[in-house]
Amino acid sequence: MIRLEHVTKRYEGGQAPAVEDLSMVIPRGELVVLVGPSGCGKTTILKMINRVIEPSSGTIYLDGAETSTFAPHVLRRSIGYVIQRVGLFPHRTIADNIGTVPTLLGWDDDRIRRRVEELVALMGLDSELLDRYPQALSGGQQQRAGVARALAADPPVLLMDEPFGAVDPVVRTRLQGELLDLQQRLHKTIVLVTHDIDEALRLGDRIAVFSEVGRIEQFASPEELLARPASPYVDEFLGAHRTLRRAGLLRLDAILCRKAMPADAVQPYQDDAGLPRLASSATVRDALDVLLAGKHQAVIVTSGDVTVHVAFDDLRAALE
Ligand code: ADP
Ligand code: MG
Repeated sequence: MIRLEHVTKRYEGGQAPAVEDLSMVIPRGELVVLVGPSGCGKTTILKMINRVIEPSSGTIYLDGAETSTFAPHVLRRSIGYVIQRVGLFPHRTIADNIGTVPTLLGWDDDRIRRRVEELVALMGLDSELLDRYPQALSGGQQQRAGVARALAADPPVLLMDEPFGAVDPVVRTRLQGELLDLQQRLHKTIVLVTHDIDEALRLGDRIAVFSEVGRIEQFASPEELLARPASPYVDEFLGAHRTLRRAGLLRLDAILCRKAMPADAVQPYQDDAGLPRLASSATVRDALDVLLAGKHQAVIVTSGDVTVHVAFDDLRAALE
């Protein structure tokens, strides 16, 4: 869907390039996270994708066509942009902010108003807020309005630059959950930038880990990153408790499939009654927590009419 080929960006006066010889593919319908330290070129990459700035060299394709050949209104319709630090226009109402792109595209007032109302409902914002100015909204409400603005023309692609950077951890967690729900319904192609590895692991179908100099160190699923970091840099970037974090991503379904293979599908224990039970949607980490907290040798995991006993060894095997 989005393809970057040998893209380099040198800012005027900059000693080293902000982005150097970057090639990557962002598949349609996936949420791809770019994560890396401040200054590694993340914002520059987003701005080159929607042509706020032009690459010094290299080519960017959207659905196989070079973006450099697109008319501005086609790009606006195709790519929604959530700007770093929200970036709502302070002197425009929330309604006008959300209607920015439809207005630029020349929609009539009625159509814009209907779309704004739809988006406000979609983002769980109160329609009373529409006539207010951005500073009269909480941080979380502003972030939601920023996402609504990016979605206004229903673009297939969404670029989100640290979209939850300006809110406290509780609101941040909630907004992350909302984005995942939204993505389940909308199936956009999303490129999301963050410097927070936990956010990346929670949200990303795939994560590109960048080093200081704007080079991709690894581009992989969260599970793959945690299981097999490609370099000491990635390992360090992932931080402590890598195995526990992976356990937090791995659902017990995986064990259920493995253990429910024909021969040992049914191995009744004598002491079923006393064992704690977990749903198969719970994670390996949940099971570890239960086992560590109690005296039990196993937990019972059920899905439909399949029931298995999961012990420490099973959890360890799942993490191998
Ligand atoms: P990130 O979003 O990962 O923090 P940026 O893409 O904003 O990184 O910046 C990458 C590098 O390019 C940094 O060294 C930054 O100082 C530099 N840079 C960004 N914008 C400009 C600009 N307009 N002019 C000159 N240098 C810039
Ligand atoms: Mg940035």
